[in-house]
Amino acid sequence: MRLKLVSINCFIKNIIKENTVDCLLLNANAQPVSHLPLSAIKWKDAITYMWLDKCVVLEWYDDWTVHSETWETKVPAVIMLKEMMKSNQKPRFSKGNIFLRDLYTCQYCEVFLTRAQATLDHVLAQSRGGKTTWENIVTACGPCNHNKGNSLGPKPIRMPYKPDYYELVSKRKKFAIEVRHPAWNIYLQ
Ligand SMILES: [Zn+2]
Repeated sequence: MRLKLVSINCFIKNIIKENTVDCLLLNANAQPVSHLPLSAIKWKDAITYMWLDKCVVLEWYDDWTVHSETWETKVPAVIMLKEMMKSNQKPRFSKGNIFLRDLYTCQYCEVFLTRAQATLDHVLAQSRGGKTTWENIVTACGPCNHNKGNSLGPKPIRMPYKPDYYELVSKRKKFAIEVRHPAWNIYLQ
């Protein structure tokens, strides 16, 4: 089902938002459907859930209204599904999740890194047959990564492993998250 919607508030605002998400999607238990990645959707999808009577709206944008020719509504900032949605709780093998497992800390010199500084290092170099897996990739700072190159040493402070979803979610909560609406913070504790 596609809804034709026109923003009455600010055209430019919508252009900026085009590629971002606007509404936090909670499961019927009031927890995000997924933390990794965070279940957040675009305003049009949120309104579709409302329209189909699949959700309860918990928070609205006070200053953002959209309308069609026949109706208008504020945009929801947080919605909760009426029925439980099954969520995939297998952590995806991704750069961000490896940084998270290692708490953005270089696994050689233990310096804390920003997302922009963090790099991925193969413990056993690819040139030596090292695989790109949870068990062979660690977070490293640029200098450690460069110094190590294709050599065998040094060893990381902790050998890498495959984390489970709950470990990553609890680590995720240690870091500030960029929220689209302040009310999201209430549901991301
Ligand atoms: Zn380092």
